[in-house]
Amino acid sequence: MTATSAPGQGAEYAATASEAYQAALRVIESVEPRIADATRKELADQRDSLKLIASENYASPAVLLTMGTWFSDKYAEGTIGHRFYAACQNVDTVEALAAEHARELFGAQYAYAQPHSGIDANLVAYWAILATRVEAPGLAELGAKNVNDLSEADWESLRAKMGNQRLLGMSLDTGGHLTHGFRPNISGKMFYQRQYGTDPATGFLDYSAVAAAAREFKPLVLVAGYSAYPRRVNFAKMREIADEVGATLMVDMAHFAGLVAGKVFTGDEDPVPHAHVVTTTTHKSLRGPRGGLVLATEEFAPAVDKGCPMVLGGPLSHVMAAKAVALAEARQPEFRTYAQAVADNAQAMADGFIKRDAGLVTGGTDNHLVLLDVTSFGLTGRQAESALLDAGIVTNRNAIPADPNGAWYTSGIRFGSPALTTRGFGADEFDRVADLVVEVLKNTQPATGPNGPSKAKYTIADGVAARVHAAATELLDANPLYPGLTL
Ligand code: PLP
Repeated sequence: MTATSAPGQGAEYAATASEAYQAALRVIESVEPRIADATRKELADQRDSLKLIASENYASPAVLLTMGTWFSDKYAEGTIGHRFYAACQNVDTVEALAAEHARELFGAQYAYAQPHSGIDANLVAYWAILATRVEAPGLAELGAKNVNDLSEADWESLRAKMGNQRLLGMSLDTGGHLTHGFRPNISGKMFYQRQYGTDPATGFLDYSAVAAAAREFKPLVLVAGYSAYPRRVNFAKMREIADEVGATLMVDMAHFAGLVAGKVFTGDEDPVPHAHVVTTTTHKSLRGPRGGLVLATEEFAPAVDKGCPMVLGGPLSHVMAAKAVALAEARQPEFRTYAQAVADNAQAMADGFIKRDAGLVTGGTDNHLVLLDVTSFGLTGRQAESALLDAGIVTNRNAIPADPNGAWYTSGIRFGSPALTTRGFGADEFDRVADLVVEVLKNTQPATGPNGPSKAKYTIADGVAARVHAAATELLDANPLYPGLTL
């Protein structure tokens, strides 16, 4: 067991998990063997590659096994103790435990465990903010007993009020998420939106520019949080800005929830005491099942609790059960060791790039991710991503601020430390990872097609991909994924 493993994992745990998976695969095989094969192959592929995608991790067998049960078969629309379906007593137990662990872990007044994903969590949060903050006449004032009594004119006026609100969020190219007001997402269409960015000279968030934009635009919702910003955010400052203009502060901590849970981000860097509403995914640095969570102050709790039926259907009870297990793991002291290692390892990886003269957005990191500007290698993000994959290094291309290659080809590669830290990688291994990445990129050239230089095609010098892959395999073999788990 490494210091970064989930609690309770040891030889006996691995042997029991092996038995469980072997039996499960035999059962699956008896119906659709190709799915059993693909499942085995997925583990083999994950074991054999350097997973550096910043939004991915490896959940524990306990978390994964929890998802494969009959809770999947149960409908439970509604809330704990107040369901639109019969026989939900065990779902109530599960949802209450997930919410309790989330409240305790994050010190939140209220937690809602139903969102199926991060996008769903953000939709729940937006509707909760609209429902709580937009002054619309209640049913009684409109002379109605229930919503069916409202006239078309009443609906028109409600739509005009709810649909014409303002949202200020971080732009996609400076690290925000598409749900933070990006035009192609519903958040960029249902709100009047404006985006704040980072300082073009440093790449750092410029709080005075955010404040100036907020003063001018007067948003109802100020969104903080990111998918590809390699730095910490001062949420106390963001709250001051929100308060000054009467906005609601929503923080999307999907990426760094593990660092909040593990107490690496505390004080002004912990969003929970500062934001009105906090959303997260549970599957990234938090190392849980694929899903979402909303945390809120008591003021917003009643509206968040209406996530179903407002924007969600029946909750995924099997996933809520797995969230409860993952959150219980994250409450153990080992998770703090893990979270600190995630931050230390990202730092080691960034230092490894810097000492090999690779350009980093903001010049480094102080969270779990590093954003490499691959224009210094003469490549697009797309070419770099593909070349790295040839060498067994799994990353994702990402736009950099004011990206000359746009959001498809991009000029950046995003690297995250959460997954390999779970495998037990330390600072020396992350330095070696930076070395291997630079070796691939230095030996990759853009290809030229009939219409000139390609943004997608590339060539790698002979033997480099194989050599790097072999070196990566050495690192991976020394830090096995799910040690002792045999299928
Ligand atoms: N919010 C942020 C900041 C994210 O990075 C992501 C996913 O990448 C999401 C929300 C959406 O999460 P999901 O893919 O679970 O909908």
